[in-house]
Amino acid sequence: MSATSEPTTAPPAPADVNALAEKVWPPDAERNDDGSVAFGGVPVADLQHRFGTPLYVLDENAVRARAREVREAFDIAAERHGTRAKVYYAAKAFLCTETVRWVTAEGLSVDVATGGELAVALAAGAPAERLGLHGNNKSEVELTRAVTSGVGTVVVDSLIEIERLAAIAAGHGVVQDVSVRVNSGVHAETHDFLATAHEDQKFGFALDAAESAVARIRELPSLRFIGLHCHIGSQIFGAAGFAESASRVIGLHARLLEGGEIPTVNLGGGFGIAYTEADDPTPIADLAEEIVSAVARECAARGIAVPVLAFEPGRAIVGRAGVTLYEVGTVKPVTVADDLQRLYVSVDGGMSDNARTALYGAAYSARIVSRRSDVPPALSRVVGKHCEAGDIVVDAEWLPGDVAPGDLLAVPATGAYCFSLASNYNYIPRPPVVAVGGGAARVIVRGETIDDLLARDAGVPAPTEGNA
Ligand SMILES: *Cc1c(COP(=O)(O)O)cnc(C)c1O
Repeated sequence: MSATSEPTTAPPAPADVNALAEKVWPPDAERNDDGSVAFGGVPVADLQHRFGTPLYVLDENAVRARAREVREAFDIAAERHGTRAKVYYAAKAFLCTETVRWVTAEGLSVDVATGGELAVALAAGAPAERLGLHGNNKSEVELTRAVTSGVGTVVVDSLIEIERLAAIAAGHGVVQDVSVRVNSGVHAETHDFLATAHEDQKFGFALDAAESAVARIRELPSLRFIGLHCHIGSQIFGAAGFAESASRVIGLHARLLEGGEIPTVNLGGGFGIAYTEADDPTPIADLAEEIVSAVARECAARGIAVPVLAFEPGRAIVGRAGVTLYEVGTVKPVTVADDLQRLYVSVDGGMSDNARTALYGAAYSARIVSRRSDVPPALSRVVGKHCEAGDIVVDAEWLPGDVAPGDLLAVPATGAYCFSLASNYNYIPRPPVVAVGGGAARVIVRGETIDDLLARDAGVPAPTEGNA
């Protein structure tokens, strides 16, 4: 883990504590002459005034541009190696109807993993044939909804599910396209990967068990096998893990070709982004080329055609487009060692709007965005307002030494897996999501109210007539 409380691992003090590092902040973030920052052309004071804090800010142009960039990167790499690519947006990274509309308008397909995610994608008007449904324990209700709404691909994960889905499809007179999730034995470890013969986790079929699963699917007239699927994990910086996994999957794909044609191979998502300046993910165009060329080499070695290749980026599409805006409430110096003080900077959100630091020890950065400061920086820890010592948003960051209550603080690269993982811990309402771009801001997911939270409690007295 890159974030620890050891003083020795504190990041180096930045040359300019007001600077917005390009690889971490949305491309449209800009510090104005008055020292305050605007996102998508909207000053943070306006955002605070109109929507309050904490606030998720999502730069629409950044999401769209990145969706295009990733799609084109895989298109170009695929074409260079004589095939086509299909890019699914892994919706769980940040799912609401607007994000589905943005990415489908940019030519992406969409992956969902539950009936709830499927409902959002359908509510957004996404063409069902461009949806993929994942999950290791899809219910009959979820599978039925997928079959009846015309979902393009169901990624099956167990023998039980194959029978369950086949029966549902047969009952509705549908032939359902399915892919088979396999576990290649390659798994992401932090930014790198681990390769073993077998993996001890819940997803997919081991490579040596997948053959009989595919054979069973091929016996069932209500299912059509369209290819193998593999996802090795998340926040991976280099291509080597994908290449290793792809070579194993292509080996199985080649053997399965003896039983009939197989149009696709899906290599999943997991492409990493920079959360701090220290992070150095491989540019997506290079990653695409390295992965696709590895697949092409494996296919050439086996004398088979390169299948259509599918990919499923989530974080890589939305991560950098999102920023969380907080207001500082208290600042407290804490002596950590004789020669070390740390400023605890408390903001008005925390692990309920960003669980990743508490959950994974994830590293983030932060800046004061309501003003510029020339006061020397102080080693700081940005914490939330929850009843947990582990309620940390940014473990270690240098903030201006005069950081004070009322300052607006922004944490960049929160577009992926923050809104998705948000909770109501301590009955803190979940923040709204605002889309910014071209100087305009609009709510795309409204914030929760205390009334929303009370509404689910069956013991709360109903408001009576004249007392509402
Ligand atoms: C989560 C997930 C993804 C997306 O992962 P990212 O790290 O956000 O790119 C893709 N495919 C599957 C099957 C997943 O579970």
